[in-house]
Amino acid sequence: MDVENTLTNAGSGSLLIGFSNLRRARGERPLVITKGRGVFIADEDGREILDASSSFYCAALGYSDTRLVEAARRQLGQLPFYTTGMHRTVDVALELAEKLKPLVPIADAHVAIYCTGSEAVDFALKFMRYRNVARGEPQRRKVISRWGSYHGGTIASAALGGGRDVHDAFALPMDDFLFVSQPNWPAGAEPGESEAQYVGRLIAELEQTIEAAGPETVAGFVAEPISFSCGFFPPPAGYFAGVREVLDRHGILYLDDEVICGYGRTGHLFAAEPLGLKPDMMSLAKGMTSGYFPVSATIISGELYDWLERGSEQRGTFAHATTASGHPVGAAVALEMLRIVKEDRLLEQVQARIPSLHRHVHALADHPLVGAVRAFGLAGALTLTTARIGGIGAGSAAGGVAMMGAVGRILGRVMLDHGLIVRITGDNAVIAPPLIIQESEIDELFRRLRAALDDAA
Ligand code: PLP
Repeated sequence: MDVENTLTNAGSGSLLIGFSNLRRARGERPLVITKGRGVFIADEDGREILDASSSFYCAALGYSDTRLVEAARRQLGQLPFYTTGMHRTVDVALELAEKLKPLVPIADAHVAIYCTGSEAVDFALKFMRYRNVARGEPQRRKVISRWGSYHGGTIASAALGGGRDVHDAFALPMDDFLFVSQPNWPAGAEPGESEAQYVGRLIAELEQTIEAAGPETVAGFVAEPISFSCGFFPPPAGYFAGVREVLDRHGILYLDDEVICGYGRTGHLFAAEPLGLKPDMMSLAKGMTSGYFPVSATIISGELYDWLERGSEQRGTFAHATTASGHPVGAAVALEMLRIVKEDRLLEQVQARIPSLHRHVHALADHPLVGAVRAFGLAGALTLTTARIGGIGAGSAAGGVAMMGAVGRILGRVMLDHGLIVRITGDNAVIAPPLIIQESEIDELFRRLRAALDDAA
């Protein structure tokens, strides 16, 4: 054994762990999770932790649903792998596409199945470009997203993310990426501005951004229904209707990124439903299998699919796939997930839990460390501030994924001591427990959260 190497790699050892401070990781043991049951996980020291982040918003069914495990086992026994491409696929991938088609708010939907949300988003951008080339508009390539957003880790999906420091740090090619403000109502409003006026200002900004770029160069607009990545900001009333109207006027496609919001978080299968969204494309991942197997989907309208077909008619092969597209084990688990959502009446369960989660979130509004609270569906967020206890400047909303606030960092550590994980994004703490959480567990979550806030104050 190479002792020297083991010593210099103390901490995370040889594993590169992203979204971490790599310098600090050199000396610090990461949190190492070894087990899960229901909404709880356990680390290597046997410490039990209530995971109110659902492991980056994935574990809709928690950590021990044996039906998902059995579905994977069955498929592994029958056909562990076959690739989807060159007009070949597997039965369960065909079935998954047929099951998803009527569930999404997209006319005559076509479904492409991949592994990660980053791929789902990146490929949606690729499909937009292919369509525009086929239509004789190859210059229509630019995509608009919102500052503070996160849409993935590949070059294109990271460029689409609204973190300037990420663009700079990785020297991302930014020519075709445009940004508009992230809605943050009411904190982002001017003094005296009504909700309708605030929305009007955001929509005017979108219009100006398109005009300045040249409408004939803009391919798409990408947004999460509720932006989780920069701290959980539900949209103000009328925002997406205004966005859609502008996009339609300029022939711009709308990708609804439901990688986090989809699969029940709002008490509906997709957040598009309660928010009245009418996308041309959707990206799904995380909840599709509760995180048990990496599966994602890019869903496109029939009209868009027709253009892909026409492009393929012009060129021959539609030269796009990944080896693990339509992975049979992933598809089998995703099918089982859809079955469970129905059988367990999961969406009704979620709707039944929403009032108590909201009550608990709002009850924290007067905590000295809390500057603002927000709640929507089975999720909520606290914007942390030290202003009321006379501390250093905190409470910065919509800061972007890379700006980790000092108060958030402290709270994150204290929470772990109380056996709790919520997702810290800048100075926002986002609470999104597994959808199967029980009432008594919601009480326990907030008991731990309040105790941690008290300690951190
Ligand atoms: N889109 C959104 C909204 C996300 O939050 C994420 C990841 O967190 C992605 C896309 C990328 O998904 P993945 O990490 O599975 O590649």
